[in-house]
Amino acid sequence: MNPFPLILSSPSGGGKTTISRLLLERRPDVGYSVSCTTRPPRPGEVHGRDYFFLTRAEFLEKRERDEFAESAEVHGNLYGTLRSHVEGVLNGGRHVVMDIDVQGARQFRAAYPESVMVFLLPPSVEALLQRLSGRRTESGEVFRIRVRAAREELHAALSYQYAVVNDDLESAYRSVSSIVDAEAVRHARQPQLATRVHRLMEELDHQLLQMASR
Ligand code: ADP
Ligand code: 5GP
Repeated sequence: MNPFPLILSSPSGGGKTTISRLLLERRPDVGYSVSCTTRPPRPGEVHGRDYFFLTRAEFLEKRERDEFAESAEVHGNLYGTLRSHVEGVLNGGRHVVMDIDVQGARQFRAAYPESVMVFLLPPSVEALLQRLSGRRTESGEVFRIRVRAAREELHAALSYQYAVVNDDLESAYRSVSSIVDAEAVRHARQPQLATRVHRLMEELDHQLLQMASR
């Protein structure tokens, strides 16, 4: 197995967290890259599991030391992916799922070109607004900032390799999981493929010779 990064993006409320969690729960070949952020934790969020919650000074220090594979300012807060974390999951033999915004995704793919990029689309504006407001964790102004950002972020969907409409959750999950399965068997991700094929051919040649001599 040749593990790769799987980037999940969408406007806020698009379902990245939900689908990432399902991938982690159901697929032992998938791990998660815990990001750093300067945003305050939401109720129920745990430091080290959902994010590493840092002060702005701590974040900038890490960025200065080039510890991030990518970083970006999203909705007024800083977010970044730690190289060490991504490498740790990949070296452990698991695909690494990343829930990152569209600017970060572009930077990250430049550093890790083998990444697979999936954009989750809401089935409708109504559903998106309902899912965003259903979370009820943000004030009215923060909510408006996220809705405005959603409009801009949607445009990036056109530059992703895959776009999955998150209407029915199970079916969206199945699509994303199938993308992981299909990408894992891509020719380019199987360095041993040529050797394997040649070995099979050699063995068949051997069998053909034996058949001819019978
Ligand atoms: P994101 O991480 O992209 O901001 P979340 O995964 O937090 O989005 O989802 C936002 C809200 O929408 C959550 O309350 C989640 O339970 C809900 N949600 C996600 N996908 C679906 C779906 N397919 N159908 C209904 N609700 C969904
Ligand atoms: P939230 O605050 O709702 O958890 O995330 C807000 C936005 O930040 C989402 O679009 C999410 O994808 C993005 N995000 C989360 N972690 C990272 C990261 O490490 N890097 C970047 N660039 N964006 C991130």
